[in-house]
Amino acid sequence: MVVASGGINGCDQKVRNHWQPAWGQSPEVILNGSHQFADGLLHDAVTQVGGNVTHLEKMWDYAAGVHHPRPRKPRHGLSLVPPKSALWMTAQGTRFGPEPLVSGYDTWELVRRVCEQEQKYSWAILNRKIALKELAISGAESNPSVRDKKKLKFLKTILFGNRELVDDMVENCVDFVTGSTVEELAEKMNALENPVKVEAETLLREISAYDAQLDRPVKYRNDEQLRRIAHLRQYRGDRVRIAKDQKILDPKAMPLIAIRQFIISRKSLGGIQTNLDGQVLGEEGYPIDGLFAVGEAAGFGGGGVHGQRALEGTFLGGCVLTARYAAQKIAGDLV
Ligand SMILES: Cc1cc2nc3c(=O)[nH]c(=O)nc-3n(C[C@H](O)[C@H](O)[C@H](O)COP(=O)(O)OP(=O)(O)OC[C@H]3O[C@@H](n4cnc5c(N)ncnc54)[C@H](O)[C@@H]3O)c2cc1C
Repeated sequence: MVVASGGINGCDQKVRNHWQPAWGQSPEVILNGSHQFADGLLHDAVTQVGGNVTHLEKMWDYAAGVHHPRPRKPRHGLSLVPPKSALWMTAQGTRFGPEPLVSGYDTWELVRRVCEQEQKYSWAILNRKIALKELAISGAESNPSVRDKKKLKFLKTILFGNRELVDDMVENCVDFVTGSTVEELAEKMNALENPVKVEAETLLREISAYDAQLDRPVKYRNDEQLRRIAHLRQYRGDRVRIAKDQKILDPKAMPLIAIRQFIISRKSLGGIQTNLDGQVLGEEGYPIDGLFAVGEAAGFGGGGVHGQRALEGTFLGGCVLTARYAAQKIAGDLV
């Protein structure tokens, strides 16, 4: 018997029970960015027959989840790839600092920084021009041209912006609001009935301070986010997807957009303990006869082979690899 049932991150209770201690208290809202059958029921069944389930706190969650516009399950979330030129703000509308939050470097750390706040959600503040160029959502559902291998369409969205995606989210996602002024934006942010309010003056001060940096010659810009953007834009693949010197309050880039972002659960790096042949191990470390676990159920094969801060996109490989090893062992035993 081979357990290949995925992780535990579709189960809100299990995610909370095994919340990563370094992230502090679990947030009030955790969206589900996994599938609803990633409920860990087969992890429980394996425990019942003496198998060792371990390191479930080594989970991989994201810091920029929004409610799915057309939910198909409770707490159904989408994980944004937050625009690099957007400002990442606390629940109160102040910029995270002194080190600003910038996506694409250390996902684990982004979750830790957001959860360090008393209110464990955040805002992205941007404008339509930035959204068109940089906003993306992780997963095949939100990237049909990649999924269906439509290279021309993919190229078009890279070059001219993903209008379809931006318009859909602005019109249908409850966490997106727009405004032609900072005052209007703050008013709409506050209308979402959050536990704390955003002051328009604070928001304006924070945005203006960032925009003012862009008035300086490049060599005098002293902002870590701008430094990273400048560095990323040296690589062509990033240059086409990151705006150049884009101010938030640029009148030609309106309207302003605010996105309320929640923690969203996704992947398990812990799970059913196995040996390198995929055989499930009991607590004493001996294999249980005839019982195997592979893929995310086994924490991508023995506790997250790429480490706790694994690189994006490296998860599926471990799933395939562990399944191959288990299959080889099973086939070998049959001969
Ligand atoms: C939106 C999203 C985007 C991702 N993007 C990437 C990426 O870009 N790169 C990357 O490397 N990884 C990515 N991942 C992670 C990767 O997709 C998963 O880790 C991988 O699919 C896990 O494979 P698996 O076969 O172990 O489990 P799953 O793909 O989760 O499959 C488990 C299957 O078991 C079924 N099941 C569960 N319980 C039972 C039961 N009791 N009885 C019968 N069937 C059951 C489920 O319905 C499901 O079909 C992403 C994950 C998500 C959710």
